[in-house]
Amino acid sequence: MNAKALVVLSGGQDSTTCLYWAIDRFGRENVSSVTFDYGQRHRIELTSAAEIAGFAGVPNVILPIDTFAALGGDALTGEDIAVDSTLDEETGLPNTFVPGRNLIFLTFAAAFAYQRNIAHLVTGVAQTDYSGYPDCREETMSALQTAIQLGMESEVQIHTPLMHLSKKETVELAQALGALPAMAMTHTCYNGERPPCGHCAACELRAKGFAEAGVVDPLLI
Ligand code: ZN
Repeated sequence: MNAKALVVLSGGQDSTTCLYWAIDRFGRENVSSVTFDYGQRHRIELTSAAEIAGFAGVPNVILPIDTFAALGGDALTGEDIAVDSTLDEETGLPNTFVPGRNLIFLTFAAAFAYQRNIAHLVTGVAQTDYSGYPDCREETMSALQTAIQLGMESEVQIHTPLMHLSKKETVELAQALGALPAMAMTHTCYNGERPPCGHCAACELRAKGFAEAGVVDPLLI
């Protein structure tokens, strides 16, 4: 197996940190990134991802997966659904949960990697994430890795460097990896605003992480 890595880059804070983690671990020349156009309402994510990859000096490919909006029910792809961080009584999840998203992203990323002889996938999922998205759990990623290895007859590995880190620790890792300048290009806000709205759940979580780490968010400078 070679030591090439593919980072799933969403344009957000976590995947950007992972991009720098991969560069540190595998070497810039061995890292590439993929961004999914999954019909997200906030198209700024796509330009952010391309901008960040360019800044970091790694290739970026945007792949279309235009089916989530047709499935309905989530606030990130649905035109007429407002972001609501209130947890659904039955599922215990906010309506920003896009069912299957990370499973599909990583499966496509693995297929992309397979065709290019890339053995390592890197994703910014974290089970410490406030939302408790079930597709961000370590157990899910471990099972998915097994399924992909079997289904593609490959030894591809899924790396989740942020899995057990708090937002504060993620900011500290970003700082240690020299990823902070790129943070000025990231996009996190659920309302798609730039500068960020500051009051949605994603903005609040991001602000908390930077405040606890004692670091000024480069996006706000
Ligand atoms: Zn916001």
